[in-house]
Amino acid sequence: MPAYLDHAASTPMRPEAIEAMLPWLRDHHANPSGAHRPARQARRAVDEARDDVAEALGADPGEIVFTGGGTEADNLAVLGGHDRRGGMLVASAIEHPAVLEPVRSRAGRIVGVDAQGLIDLDALDTALDPEVTLVSVMLANNEVGTVQPLDEVADHVRRLAPAATLHTDAVQAMGWLDVVAASAPADLVSISAHKVGGPKGMGALAVRRGTPLAPRQLGGGQERDRRGGTLDVAGIVALATALRLTVEHRTATVARVGVLRDRLATGLLAAVPDAIETAAPDGDRSRLTAGICHLCIPGIESEALLFLLEQGEVYASAGSSCASGAMEPSPVLAAMGVRRELAFGSLRLSLGWCSTADDVDRALEVIPPAVARLRRFARRPAVAAATASPA
Ligand code: PLP
Repeated sequence: MPAYLDHAASTPMRPEAIEAMLPWLRDHHANPSGAHRPARQARRAVDEARDDVAEALGADPGEIVFTGGGTEADNLAVLGGHDRRGGMLVASAIEHPAVLEPVRSRAGRIVGVDAQGLIDLDALDTALDPEVTLVSVMLANNEVGTVQPLDEVADHVRRLAPAATLHTDAVQAMGWLDVVAASAPADLVSISAHKVGGPKGMGALAVRRGTPLAPRQLGGGQERDRRGGTLDVAGIVALATALRLTVEHRTATVARVGVLRDRLATGLLAAVPDAIETAAPDGDRSRLTAGICHLCIPGIESEALLFLLEQGEVYASAGSSCASGAMEPSPVLAAMGVRRELAFGSLRLSLGWCSTADDVDRALEVIPPAVARLRRFARRPAVAAATASPA
């Protein structure tokens, strides 16, 4: 059985979410903005879905803006606020590019993190002043799984940048944390459907009442003038279904998958003793989401390892799906101070709502011999070079 261990990149759709969206693809075609009965029916489905999404985020239904994914939600939060108010933007150095790039595009300030990926609160204080209009700090990191202390961040922001809104990217948190509680101090919260068993290209931004936000997409006034464009009824209904199930089963999933992740990490560290558990070098995983096992393996290159793993039907990634394939080591690892040579040997194994013990067994069977093979291979030219007689 193949082992899919790249759930942080995208997790399989929940069958119930597929079922929920099918009638809206097959049987109903009306535009929910219309006035006739089929249109009103579509609007009712969107309204019900909006209620569910709002509940999953601890927001009011009127505070939910549906978007075309997590990237759009992040862009809307960061740039939509800036378009309205200007001012200085601040983000942590390990944000997803969907936040970092917009912040950089407005010459914002980037705040460093420690070796575990936790935001440096002293550096945050230095970045904050009354000119700051938005601070963006993710709830859970997509690459190494670190969970940020958002309450503490919010305290610092309220004290030193009282006019700033607080945005949190909860895309990777939704499956693993009580996001209602964890995101309570935030004014803007982004989520993405395909990380929780919904379809790709669907997301939402919760915009707490009174938060300044200009639309990025102008059009027919949909989403209370915050995001123009015909609503994707099928995607919205599927997002709501996936979120409902995610929240309903979250405690059980975290417990079950956490055990699998721990067995995976412990097993790999036993088989490859010099590997480093990147965000938990001392073995303390209490600040990580339950689904991520991120290792840095000395003496190998991720791309070569991923190639061998694929041959063994283990599907993983070197880091975030956006960074993999690039020749530069991941910016997240660089921000955490991981040495460049070590960062080249990074491996992210991410589990999801439907991961099984078989996935872990297969990974434990395939990964250690693949690492050993690469190391043997890497040593060979050095031996040859050492034994070659000088010309
Ligand atoms: N934010 C985080 C933390 C993510 O992990 C991702 C996706 O990898 C995104 C935002 C972007 O979401 P989407 O793929 O829906 O655009």
